[in-house]
Formats: sequence, structure tokens, C-alpha cells
Amino acid sequence: MPIYEYVPVRTGCSYCGRGFDALQKMADPPLKACPKCGVLVRRAFSSFAACSVEAPGDAETLDTKLRDYEKRGMWSHAAELADKSSLKERAMDNYRRAGYNF
Ligand SMILES: [Zn+2]
Repeated sequence: MPIYEYVPVRTGCSYCGRGFDALQKMADPPLKACPKCGVLVRRAFSSFAACSVEAPGDAETLDTKLRDYEKRGMWSHAAELADKSSLKERAMDNYRRAGYNF
């Protein structure tokens, strides 16, 4: 499932204020509002999509990137990166931290 990034169209709450990620099926309609505070949101280009153009070169680079995402609490980004790099357990950990249930 792809992860979409949303940003509030005006000042949001602590959850959506700086943007948040949502794991959605392709067929799901885009979110219209923050699930926490209800402020209107729009879908942003995922910063991950921009990052993924330059594929992580080696294991060290990948690990640095993963740690960076984890340090910043960007769990879904970390999860997707780990997922793409066949680090399934790490991906699952991060997906759970991102609040997704499997
Ligand atoms: Zn909000």
C-alpha cells in the first residue's frame, strides 16, 4: 500500500501541523481533513518519493537514512525504506510505530 503525505491548508494541530503520513489503498479517496482536529488537508508530494529517486547506494547509507527517519519519528518513511530494502522486521517495527496495524 502506498503512503501518502498530507499537509494542513491552514494551521493544524500537533498531529497534522507539520504534515502527516497516511497509509492508504490506491482505491481509497484522499483524506479531506485531519483525523484528529478536522482541519482541511491536501495531499502533498511525498518527501519519500523525492528521496527514493536516488536509491540508497550501500548498506551504510541506507542505515544512516533509516536512523535519521527513526530519530525524527518519521516511522512510515523509515518503514517504507526498510520495506523496499527487504528489512522486513524493521519495516514492521516502524509501521507499528507509525500506528498501522497488521
Ligand atoms: Zn490536526
